[in-house]
Amino acid sequence: MSTLSPDRADVAAALHAATKHLLDEELLPNVARWDRDDVLPEEVLQRIVELGITGALVPAEHGGQGLGVADLVHVWRTLSQGWISITGAVNPTGLATTLLVRHGSAEQQARWLPRIASGELLASFSITEPQAGSDLHKLETSARPHPDGGLVLDGAKRWVAGGRSSGVVFLMAMVEGSEKPSCVILPADGRGTRSWRVEDLDKMGYRGVESAAYVFEAHHEPGAEVLGGDTDGLGRGPRQMLDALDVGRVNVACRALGIIDRCLACAVAESTTREIAGGLLGDHTHAHLRLGEIVSRLMAVEALVLRAADAVDEQREDAGPLATAAKVVASDTAVWAVDRAARLAASRSYGADDELARLRRDAPQTQIGEGANDALLLALAKGLLG
Ligand SMILES: Cc1cc2nc3c(=O)[nH]c(=O)nc-3n(C[C@H](O)[C@H](O)[C@H](O)COP(=O)(O)OP(=O)(O)OC[C@H]3O[C@@H](n4cnc5c(N)ncnc54)[C@H](O)[C@@H]3O)c2cc1C
Repeated sequence: MSTLSPDRADVAAALHAATKHLLDEELLPNVARWDRDDVLPEEVLQRIVELGITGALVPAEHGGQGLGVADLVHVWRTLSQGWISITGAVNPTGLATTLLVRHGSAEQQARWLPRIASGELLASFSITEPQAGSDLHKLETSARPHPDGGLVLDGAKRWVAGGRSSGVVFLMAMVEGSEKPSCVILPADGRGTRSWRVEDLDKMGYRGVESAAYVFEAHHEPGAEVLGGDTDGLGRGPRQMLDALDVGRVNVACRALGIIDRCLACAVAESTTREIAGGLLGDHTHAHLRLGEIVSRLMAVEALVLRAADAVDEQREDAGPLATAAKVVASDTAVWAVDRAARLAASRSYGADDELARLRRDAPQTQIGEGANDALLLALAKGLLG
């Protein structure tokens, strides 16, 4: 476990306490309604931005709090106990911060990081295309330099979180001059025009998060540029964006952790309040077993996520495999935990507004987001086999 400076530890603890307050006062009482209406209210997102959660990873020299991923584990987990859609909505800005800090030119850092730190700017992160998920060889979106500056884009993107309202999109594209994809920093000024069309995707869960599909047709964006600059950044998109995905995978693992926390809470509530067979449900061995197995896996997932977060902060060689393993194990455990808790709650897990019903719709998103679990397992195995 990394040792925080006293100042940083205080900032992280205060952020966690404020998030916990928000969870109890605002998120848990309202989430069923927001989920039903498929809306993450602007004022709620704004409060989260004002707490500093979206700018937390920005280094102090660019006006941020300079926290690490490990500092945010408890914050992201607490948000997820309320609604994983909120943790998902703040994630792309953390990815953008990581991209800029680790791979941006000094000019790009100065242009974007202070605005992220102040909360003025939220970002999107876009790799996926209609025909390309984990297989980057299938990417078709292209970009070419425009004689007057900036880039001209053609192609289609899908599942862009925050993709209707973010101020900037970090987007993987085949940029002229390299046979490998690059990460394009695309200011969103021209979004919603005829050359950059936007469509909203409807979803079974993870509702309230904008999930956009884009179509670019000779879209000229004068402010668009390659992350890291043409000399250092061209063709480096996979390395840069997969590096940032380590942060995203810890974020997704925290979504799963929050879901498991709530499954445990639902299972305990059910066991201690439901009267059955002349006593309480919690008097029976099968309820003990359900609770015991959920809590033991919860503790194992928590330990793995914290270990992965430390590795990501230290940029260790095992950060990638650990973040991947944490996201896979946490998400599979979340889906499993919903099933276990629902066995105790039975019909009380099936009403449209029942928390376990929402968690059942939300949990699979954690198995897909930031890489489908099977594709990630294949990649881990490849590493073992050389
Ligand atoms: C709600 C939601 C939000 C999302 N938000 C974003 C976002 O903000 N930005 C973004 O860019 N994307 C986003 N995504 C997309 C997500 O990252 C992709 O869906 C994910 O990477 C998986 O890609 P895919 O769905 O194309 O499936 P793939 O990974 O292509 O997998 C399809 C199938 O192929 C198999 N497979 C994969 N690789 C191999 C292989 N090497 N050999 C054999 N079989 C293989 C898999 O096991 C699976 O069965 C989001 C998705 C969802 C559902």
